[in-house]
Amino acid sequence: MANPNELADLASSTQINEVDIAIVGGAMAGATLALGLAELAKQQASIGADAPIKIALIEAHKPSNEHPGFDARSIAISHGSIFELKQLGLWQHLDPLATPISNIHVSDRGHFGMTELNSESLHLPYLGQVVELEAVGNKLFSLLEKSDIALYCPSRLHSVEARIDSQLLTLEDGQQISAKLVVAADGVNSKVRQAFKQPLEQVEFGQSAIIANIHTEQPHAGWAYERFTQTGPLALLPMADNKGDSRLSLVWALPPEEAERLLTAPKSEFIDKLQQAFGYRAGRFVDVGNRFSYPLTLSYMPRPIYHRTVFLGNAAQTLHPIAGQGFNLGLRDVVCLIEVLKQVLANPEGQAGKDVGSSELTHLFLERRKTDRQGTMNSIEFLVRGFSNDYWPLVVGRNLGLRLLSWFPPLKAPVARRAMGWNQGE
Ligand SMILES: Cc1cc2nc3c(=O)[nH]c(=O)nc-3n(C[C@H](O)[C@H](O)[C@H](O)COP(=O)(O)OP(=O)(O)OC[C@H]3O[C@@H](n4cnc5c(N)ncnc54)[C@H](O)[C@@H]3O)c2cc1C
Repeated sequence: MANPNELADLASSTQINEVDIAIVGGAMAGATLALGLAELAKQQASIGADAPIKIALIEAHKPSNEHPGFDARSIAISHGSIFELKQLGLWQHLDPLATPISNIHVSDRGHFGMTELNSESLHLPYLGQVVELEAVGNKLFSLLEKSDIALYCPSRLHSVEARIDSQLLTLEDGQQISAKLVVAADGVNSKVRQAFKQPLEQVEFGQSAIIANIHTEQPHAGWAYERFTQTGPLALLPMADNKGDSRLSLVWALPPEEAERLLTAPKSEFIDKLQQAFGYRAGRFVDVGNRFSYPLTLSYMPRPIYHRTVFLGNAAQTLHPIAGQGFNLGLRDVVCLIEVLKQVLANPEGQAGKDVGSSELTHLFLERRKTDRQGTMNSIEFLVRGFSNDYWPLVVGRNLGLRLLSWFPPLKAPVARRAMGWNQGE
């Protein structure tokens, strides 16, 4: 990286690229937004708009196994999110990489409560789909390269300067971009948030998650599992078969010391411990791939907007992975921003007369995201605290809740709606 004097020289010798929207961070949230906006620009061009929106995307990493946003994780994409990705024209590219979830089994270790959700009884082809982020990253990056987006990658944001009618971004290599609107999709340690000294609230759960791929003796047949244990929740998602090998993607929340120990424990000890915690509902676990750990904290910006700036995805809120909602919620941020932009651009004055970074736009985004964002964060905090606890009224309450759900299927509908990402605006 250049020192401040070198950077100033470099910046003054390069031309400033003027765009309408600069997105910082091109992982799940930033890349889907960029591609969604590129589609919007194409639509504008096809109806003869004078100047379709110009978009720049700045991402520090090219796809590789070092990429922090497209790593070894597998994530569950809800039914609702798949609908949104189809609307954005992206699902057709991700579908061949995905494994459908046909059934979800939820249980509470050592207690009687358990329930099941299944796609057949809800008359759906699937409840959600599982994708491996590394493969998704490669796909989205190749689409970005083919689009009209000004792609700065690998390139890192160095600083951002707020001006009255634009934001001036300087990259570590001295290039400069002037944008009417900055979208910060640069994750939990957002450089944009730090530059504008915007607060981040954090709730510690005192847990770390181990993630790994687990090889099973019996085929998974599209089952996903969520098991609440005394030390924290454990989730297993079905993955694509690898040369006839059945694999499940594990997220296991544990006290940090136990997570650290199990991360490097011999494979046989790890598998025994996991089998003990989970039981044999998915058959015998026969092998485990590379293990990684993540600290589990809920981090969120109380107010994810600033002058000509919108924060979304993990930059706005980073959730506990217990309910598999992080990207699903981030995607709803993306969709909302695109809707708000469409509304601004549809103004009869046209784009030239309308400012895509106006406070009207940022406030509209803030207002529209309030209920879903707060509701999702509250329900996840309730799940983590309520199910990682042996306080008896909570144990009785949650077990009765799970049992009632399985005895009275109509009660499942609202729960299923939430799990599948159809809870927006409720
Ligand atoms: C173990 C685990 C399991 C999960 N399971 C699920 C699940 O089942 N379902 C679900 O919906 N979600 C799940 N999530 C959450 C989901 O993975 C995240 O919400 C999502 O990937 C976040 O994407 P993002 O683009 O918002 O942020 P990030 O992935 O944090 O990306 C930020 C990007 O910004 C870039 N960047 C940072 N600083 C700069 C800079 N200065 N200049 C340029 N670029 C920069 C980084 O390189 C990175 O690519 C899970 C998370 C974990 C940890």
